[in-house]
Amino acid sequence: ISTSKDDVYKLVKENGIEFIRLQFTDIFGIIKSTSIMVDELDKAFAGELFFDGSSIDGFARIEESDQVIVPDPSTFKIMPWRPKEEGVARMICDVYAPDGKPFEGCPRYILKKAVREAEEMSYKLNIGPEGEFFLFYTDEKGYPTFDIHDNAGYFDLAPVDMGEDARRNIILTLKKMGFKIEASHHEVAPGQHEIDFKYDEALATADNWMTFRDVVKNVAKQFNLYATFMPKPFTGKNGNAMHCNQSLFSGDTDVFYDSDKADGLSDIALNYIGGLLKHARGMAPITNPIVNSYKRLKPGYEAPIHIAWSTSNRSTLIRIPAARGNSTRVELRNPDPTANPYLVFAVMLRAGLDGIKNEISPPAPQNGNMYTMHNEEIPLFPRDLQEAIVEMKKDPLIRETLGDHIYERYLDVKQKEWNEYAETVHNWEINRYLRKF
Ligand code: ADP
Ligand code: MG
Ligand code: MG
Ligand code: MG
Ligand code: MG
Repeated sequence: ISTSKDDVYKLVKENGIEFIRLQFTDIFGIIKSTSIMVDELDKAFAGELFFDGSSIDGFARIEESDQVIVPDPSTFKIMPWRPKEEGVARMICDVYAPDGKPFEGCPRYILKKAVREAEEMSYKLNIGPEGEFFLFYTDEKGYPTFDIHDNAGYFDLAPVDMGEDARRNIILTLKKMGFKIEASHHEVAPGQHEIDFKYDEALATADNWMTFRDVVKNVAKQFNLYATFMPKPFTGKNGNAMHCNQSLFSGDTDVFYDSDKADGLSDIALNYIGGLLKHARGMAPITNPIVNSYKRLKPGYEAPIHIAWSTSNRSTLIRIPAARGNSTRVELRNPDPTANPYLVFAVMLRAGLDGIKNEISPPAPQNGNMYTMHNEEIPLFPRDLQEAIVEMKKDPLIRETLGDHIYERYLDVKQKEWNEYAETVHNWEINRYLRKF
């Protein structure tokens, strides 16, 4: 059930809402937000709210900086962690140029374009991301410390799992905001948690993911904890992933399922996998956007390093979970939660559709443990951000999907990020070399 403009006015009145946060996501996956009073709603819906796009990373140049945000009423949600009286609600916005055209630098627009292409092929992409994060203690000022708040492991229960209360509250808050929570548990690393919500269409899921990250951080704060989605905070421990479970539906039917096949996987599913594998390297800076992302993708932590797929094991880039029928899905395991969900879903979808259009067959599945396997023929995922950048430049599908505006700004910022990292002398080097030479 999606809310219309009229519903928004009604809900605002019924719930005594005073403030409306207008949110959108920049190209690097960061939520931007401005608050208006409810009296300004008419103006917002009419597309009369301008902001300075040149102040947002990678958005617009100073000479073309006036941009318009228009809220999407279907995303109206009350923020349950804000005061009940004179409360706060939010809507997610689309960004437009002053001439009323969709802004090429708006990630939501990029995903909408990819979704439209799928629709033209009569497909709808469903995505269910798994959300992993760490909880750290905060100091007196509320800043995160590097003190992990528990020492529990996979599926541990309270009292070892001290994140229980925070996690419970996160889930209840998400439920109030309309999420269907499927599962939650303590993850493998100390202080690490996972919450899974039910899959939905790509655009709704991307919006949900941004909301999810926001809720996790805000509720954690109420428990004097800091939630981080950083992919690999600890050397030698599991990192945070954003596994993307995905399937194509035609009407109410999952077209990845074929009951006539021994493994239940349709040709469409196989071609979709073929497309994802073909473009995995090119997509890398989008799915795994930061220097730290690549420290997660090392052998032994259930994160992939090879470009391969499998029906069971968790060391490949793609796993096909056992469920069939309308739960037949492809799980892409490399993306991490620092990625921009709109852009990740857009490139994944277009990679998969490329596989379908060009009938790309995937290589044979790899059902052995890839960490202990030495097969030179299986290609590797990029090992660092620099390699990823080089690969993205070699894959025209990525540029086509992102559009020139985002493509150029994204690569520019990522190259600078890598350069800064490469030019910095790190503690590891001091420890390793200072006394030795
Ligand atoms: P894992 O076994 O990898 O830990 P989880 O059970 O944590 O997987 O998460 C499964 C995710 O897959 C959920 O978000 C769920 O809603 C989603 N999912 C289930 N069926 C589909 C489908 N047909 N298409 C897309 N996502 C799906
Ligand atoms: Mg899971
Ligand atoms: Mg599970
Ligand atoms: Mg997990
Ligand atoms: Mg998973």
